[in-house]
Amino acid sequence: MTVPLQIDRCAGCSTQLFPRRLACPVCGSADLQSHEAGEGVVVSVTTLHRRPGGLIPEGSRPRLGLVALDSGPSVIARCEADVVPGTRVELERADDGAVIAAALGDSRG
Ligand SMILES: [Zn+2]
Repeated sequence: MTVPLQIDRCAGCSTQLFPRRLACPVCGSADLQSHEAGEGVVVSVTTLHRRPGGLIPEGSRPRLGLVALDSGPSVIARCEADVVPGTRVELERADDGAVIAAALGDSRG
């Protein structure tokens, strides 16, 4: 199961923040309000072949993408096979804490 990814907006200066922080790095306000991250576009995608301890078996190698959110922040997210650079996505949080980029229907471009 996944839920929409939450990011924070500073009430003092409207800076969008991800990951979460205790205070805004721009103005110092601790008044941060969570909201859904919304949509973004995939800038780049890479496949992990190794992790500490050795090679990752082919077929289970995770694909990670850099997603530029429309609201400002950039987020690294796990990508399914149909997500490529230029894909419009929304970000979700999986039960294991991973951020998942899910392609929006017919919105590649
Ligand atoms: Zn601020």
